[in-house]
Amino acid sequence: MSGGQDPRLGVLGAGVMGTGIAALAIGSGVPVVLVDIDGPALDRARTGIARQLRLARLMGAFPAGTPDAALETTTDVARVADATAVVESVTERLDSKATALATATAVLAAGTLVVSNTSAIPIDELADHVARPEDLVGIHFMNPPYLIRTVELIHGRRSSAAAVRAAEELLAALGQTPVHVGDGPGFVINRILQRSINEAARIVQDGLATPESVDAAFTGCLGHRSGPLATADLIGLDNVVDSLAVLLERTGDEGYRPCDLLVAKVGAGELGRKTGRGFFEYPDTL
Ligand code: NAD
Repeated sequence: MSGGQDPRLGVLGAGVMGTGIAALAIGSGVPVVLVDIDGPALDRARTGIARQLRLARLMGAFPAGTPDAALETTTDVARVADATAVVESVTERLDSKATALATATAVLAAGTLVVSNTSAIPIDELADHVARPEDLVGIHFMNPPYLIRTVELIHGRRSSAAAVRAAEELLAALGQTPVHVGDGPGFVINRILQRSINEAARIVQDGLATPESVDAAFTGCLGHRSGPLATADLIGLDNVVDSLAVLLERTGDEGYRPCDLLVAKVGAGELGRKTGRGFFEYPDTL
């Protein structure tokens, strides 16, 4: 964000996280221009954002009396030109992110904050694809963003102090608290989490335990709020496999090679909550 203007957010990608971030902003009184290359995804996003806003308000997630801000949906990336900050949240593939970041930053004024919500791709690698690398930082939002109010704020090697300050201001406007971390594949959370999900899936693949037993061990014995396989279903198994591929490619560590069961589930379209079936079933989506 720049110059004490009222924030206006551009969000690139209208999937699970882009809609969640848009709902968070709109409920916090920050208008959003939401961009996707897929028109039908934008139609689904409007419905999804309205549902998330209703749920979030029922749960008291936004300050009472703050009206919802405006939402514009478009396939034209140039519509983000007058945003005070842009959050990229497209598919976890370098080529998709490179295209989205390059086209958006070409129309932005210098000094406009650019954020990537990547799960695992180093920010310094993405910085090669933006118009001004100093304006880029990473913010790893959690899912759903209106419920989980802490994020990783990733300082890339070329992120400027002004960009980090602008990111802190944006997060304050969205009611989010940053944990400051350094750059590297998967940052803190996904370097650890994606590997545990892969191991949990491998345990099921090897017939050592059912998905229910794996998760019951984590929730019951360790007191985690969610087991690794329910977490994987919430993230989306396609995104898990993409994130593991990013981690494997950049670390060479075989522990990140997506196990056969994860790959098979993605191949069968069993992506988790978003398709109604993953390791568990979600009848409301089916
Ligand atoms: P998703 O598959 O649900 O949505 C991705 C969207 O990006 C799709 O609608 C696709 O059409 C769109 N897209 C692809 N290329 C584009 C482009 N060039 N311009 C505009 N839109 C484009 O994915 P998701 O789960 O929302 O993940 C998005 C990002 O957020 C990824 O980097 C992911 O790693 C990260 N992330 C995901 C989670 C999670 O729980 N799912 C949590 C934190 C971060």
